[in-house]
Amino acid sequence: MKIVVLDGHTLNPGDISWDGFKKLGEFTCYDRTAATDTVARIGDAEAAITNKTVLDAAVINACPNLRYIGVLATGYNVVDIAAAKAKGIVVTNIPTYGTSAVSQFAFALLLEICHHVGYHAETVRDGRWTASPDFCYWDFPLIELADKTMGIIGFGRIGQAVGRIANAFGMKVLAYDEYPNKALENDMVRYAQLDELLASSDVISLHAPLFDSTKGMINSGSIAKMKQGAILINTSRGPLIVEKDVAEALNSGRLAAYGADVASVEPISADNPLLTAKNCIITPHIAWAPKEARARLMAIAVDNLAAFQSGTPKNTVS
Ligand code: NAD
Repeated sequence: MKIVVLDGHTLNPGDISWDGFKKLGEFTCYDRTAATDTVARIGDAEAAITNKTVLDAAVINACPNLRYIGVLATGYNVVDIAAAKAKGIVVTNIPTYGTSAVSQFAFALLLEICHHVGYHAETVRDGRWTASPDFCYWDFPLIELADKTMGIIGFGRIGQAVGRIANAFGMKVLAYDEYPNKALENDMVRYAQLDELLASSDVISLHAPLFDSTKGMINSGSIAKMKQGAILINTSRGPLIVEKDVAEALNSGRLAAYGADVASVEPISADNPLLTAKNCIITPHIAWAPKEARARLMAIAVDNLAAFQSGTPKNTVS
C-alpha cells in the first residue's frame, strides 16, 4: 500500500517517529502541501494522511486509487465526508489523544486572563517591582474562579475534562450538548438549554465540533444573551464564533476577555479584527501539541491504518 502524509511537520517536527507507518507500506511524508499540489502528491496512493491539508470533493474525485483518509486530528472538517462516503473511502480521525492536553490548555488561557502571569512577570523582569513604592501592584482586574459558573458548549470528551478541572477550581458547570447524558450530572454539573447557559455563565468554553450547525454559533445575538463581562474561551475551532462580533464585544466591554487557540483562518490573517481587539489572547493552535499528546496521536494514527488494512476499520467518521 502506498501511504502519503501530506503535512507531517506539525505532528512530528523530528522528536517522535514515523516508523509505525513505514512498517505498513511504501511511505512518503511531506512536511506541508499547498492546495495546488495535493492531487499530484496523493497520485496513485491508496492512503492519504492529513492534518490540516484540505481534501475536498475535487481532490477526492481526482484521486482514483484513494481508499483511506487518515486525519491526524480530532476535528475532521478538512475532509469532505460526503464525497469520501460516495466513493467508499474510509475516513478516520483520532478521537482521544488530546483530551488532557486541550482541557489543560483551556485553563492555561483562562488563568492567563484571570492573572496575566506572563505580563506581570515581564514587568518584574523590567525592574518595575524593584522600583515600586508598594509591595505589590497589578494592571488588570484579577479574577478568582471559585463559586463562578463555567458554561461548557459541547460536553464531549474535552468538554467533560474541562468540567472536571472547573469543578476542582470550585466552579459550578452548566453544560450544553446536542446529546445530553444525564448520568454526567451531579451537584456541581448540570445540563442547561443554550440560552440559560449563555445568560448564567461567567466563563463560556467552546468544545463543540465545527459543523454547519455550530458555525458562527457565537455571534452578536448570542453575545447579547451573555452576562455583562463574560469571558469566552475557544480551543475548538475558530469558525464557531463570528470574529467581527466578538471583537466588537471586546472593544465595547460587553465581553471581558476572549482566549483562543484557534482562528477562522489559520495561520491567522493579518487583518483579523481579534488581533487588535481589547483583552484578547490568541495562541497559534498549540493546545494539542505537547509531545505526550503527539506521540499518543501517532500511535493511534498507525493503529487506525493497520485496522483498516486488516479489514476492521476503527475510529471511522464516514
Ligand atoms: P467529542 O466528539 O468527544 O465531543 C464533542 C461534543 O460536542 C459531543 O458531545 C457532541 O454531542 C457535541 N455536539 C455536537 N454538535 C453539537 C451542537 N450543535 N451543539 C452542542 N454540542 C454539540 O470531541 P472532543 O474530543 O471533546 O473534541 C471537541 C473539539 O475540540 C473537536 O471537534 C476539535 O474541533 C477540537 N480540538 C481542538 C484541538 C486544539 O489543538 N485546539 C485539539 C483537539 C480537538
